[in-house]
Amino acid sequence: MSNTANAAPSDVQPVVIDAARCTNCRKCLDACPTGVFQVDARTDRVVVQYPRDCHFCYLCVPDCPDHAITVSSEAPNPRYRSIYDVLGMEFPKFLPRATKDTGK
Ligand code: SF4
Ligand code: SF4
Repeated sequence: MSNTANAAPSDVQPVVIDAARCTNCRKCLDACPTGVFQVDARTDRVVVQYPRDCHFCYLCVPDCPDHAITVSSEAPNPRYRSIYDVLGMEFPKFLPRATKDTGK
Protein backbone atom coordinates (compact mmCIF):
# COMPACT_ATOMS: atom_id res chain seq x y z
CA MET A 1 0.00 0.00 0.00
CA SER A 2 1.25 3.48 -0.75
CA ASN A 3 2.66 5.50 2.10
CA THR A 4 0.65 8.52 0.98
CA ALA A 5 -2.67 6.94 -0.01
CA ASN A 6 -5.61 8.47 1.88
CA ALA A 7 -3.30 10.22 4.32
CA ALA A 8 -3.11 13.89 5.19
CA PRO A 9 0.38 15.32 4.64
CA SER A 10 0.91 15.58 8.41
CA ASP A 11 0.18 11.86 8.76
CA VAL A 12 2.66 10.73 6.11
CA GLN A 13 5.60 8.91 7.62
CA PRO A 14 9.01 9.57 6.05
CA VAL A 15 10.04 5.93 6.31
CA VAL A 16 7.78 2.88 6.32
CA ILE A 17 8.54 -0.84 6.36
CA ASP A 18 5.95 -3.08 4.74
CA ALA A 19 5.73 -5.84 7.35
CA ALA A 20 4.20 -8.21 4.82
CA ARG A 21 7.33 -7.99 2.65
CA CYS A 22 10.06 -7.62 5.29
CA THR A 23 12.00 -10.82 5.98
CA ASN A 24 13.94 -9.26 8.88
CA CYS A 25 17.24 -9.68 7.04
CA ARG A 26 18.60 -6.50 8.72
CA LYS A 27 20.44 -5.13 5.70
CA CYS A 28 18.77 -1.77 6.28
CA LEU A 29 20.57 -1.48 9.62
CA ASP A 30 23.85 -1.19 7.72
CA ALA A 31 22.43 0.86 4.86
CA CYS A 32 21.09 3.77 6.89
CA PRO A 33 23.76 6.29 7.91
CA THR A 34 21.59 7.86 10.61
CA GLY A 35 20.30 4.78 12.44
CA VAL A 36 16.64 5.15 11.52
CA PHE A 37 16.18 1.38 11.66
CA GLN A 38 16.61 -0.55 14.89
CA VAL A 39 15.77 -4.01 16.17
CA ASP A 40 12.81 -4.11 18.55
CA ALA A 41 14.08 -6.02 21.59
CA ARG A 42 10.65 -7.46 22.33
CA THR A 43 9.82 -8.77 18.88
CA ASP A 44 13.38 -9.17 17.48
CA ARG A 45 12.10 -7.47 14.33
CA VAL A 46 13.53 -4.50 12.44
CA VAL A 47 11.42 -1.39 12.95
CA VAL A 48 11.54 2.26 11.91
CA GLN A 49 12.61 3.51 15.32
CA TYR A 50 13.78 7.04 14.51
CA PRO A 51 11.93 8.26 11.39
CA ARG A 52 12.66 11.91 12.19
CA ASP A 53 16.37 11.20 11.70
CA CYS A 54 15.83 10.36 8.03
CA HIS A 55 17.85 12.55 5.67
CA PHE A 56 16.24 11.21 2.49
CA CYS A 57 19.40 9.70 1.06
CA TYR A 58 17.37 6.72 -0.23
CA LEU A 59 20.27 4.34 0.38
CA CYS A 60 18.02 1.90 2.23
CA VAL A 61 15.53 1.51 -0.62
CA PRO A 62 17.73 -0.37 -3.11
CA ASP A 63 19.52 -2.22 -0.30
CA CYS A 64 16.32 -3.91 0.86
CA PRO A 65 16.17 -7.19 -1.06
CA ASP A 66 12.44 -7.51 -0.50
CA HIS A 67 11.42 -4.00 -1.60
CA ALA A 68 9.83 -3.47 1.79
CA ILE A 69 10.97 0.11 2.45
CA THR A 70 9.16 3.24 1.31
CA VAL A 71 10.75 6.66 1.81
CA SER A 72 8.48 9.65 1.26
CA SER A 73 9.78 13.17 0.85
CA GLU A 74 6.18 14.40 1.25
CA ALA A 75 6.32 13.74 4.99
CA PRO A 76 6.83 16.65 7.37
CA ASN A 77 10.31 16.30 8.70
CA PRO A 78 12.54 18.69 10.61
CA ARG A 79 15.51 17.30 8.75
CA TYR A 80 13.94 17.77 5.34
CA ARG A 81 17.33 18.73 3.99
CA SER A 82 18.82 15.72 2.33
CA ILE A 83 22.19 14.37 3.33
CA TYR A 84 23.25 15.51 -0.15
CA ASP A 85 22.58 19.09 0.95
CA VAL A 86 24.46 18.58 4.20
CA LEU A 87 27.49 17.25 2.34
CA GLY A 88 27.26 19.89 -0.36
CA MET A 89 26.79 17.25 -3.04
CA GLU A 90 24.58 17.50 -6.10
CA PHE A 91 21.18 15.93 -5.47
CA PRO A 92 20.61 12.98 -7.81
CA LYS A 93 18.13 14.02 -10.47
CA PHE A 94 16.26 10.73 -10.35
CA LEU A 95 15.28 11.16 -6.68
CA PRO A 96 12.16 13.04 -5.51
CA ARG A 97 13.04 16.28 -3.81
CA ALA A 98 11.83 17.16 -0.32
CA THR A 99 10.14 20.55 -0.44
CA LYS A 100 8.63 21.11 2.99
CA ASP A 101 10.17 22.63 6.08
CA THR A 102 7.73 22.39 8.97
CA GLY A 103 9.94 24.51 11.17
CA LYS A 104 9.64 22.00 14.01
S1 SF4 B 1 16.41 -4.66 4.50
FE1 SF4 B 1 14.19 -4.82 4.02
S2 SF4 B 1 13.68 -6.99 4.39
FE2 SF4 B 1 15.65 -6.60 5.39
S3 SF4 B 1 15.10 -6.06 7.54
FE3 SF4 B 1 15.25 -4.12 6.38
S4 SF4 B 1 13.14 -3.71 5.68
FE4 SF4 B 1 13.23 -5.86 6.29
S1 SF4 C 1 16.48 7.34 3.26
FE1 SF4 C 1 18.59 7.30 4.08
S2 SF4 C 1 18.42 8.31 6.10
FE2 SF4 C 1 16.33 7.77 5.46
S3 SF4 C 1 15.94 5.75 6.40
FE3 SF4 C 1 16.74 5.37 4.32
S4 SF4 C 1 18.97 5.14 4.56
FE4 SF4 C 1 18.18 6.09 6.45
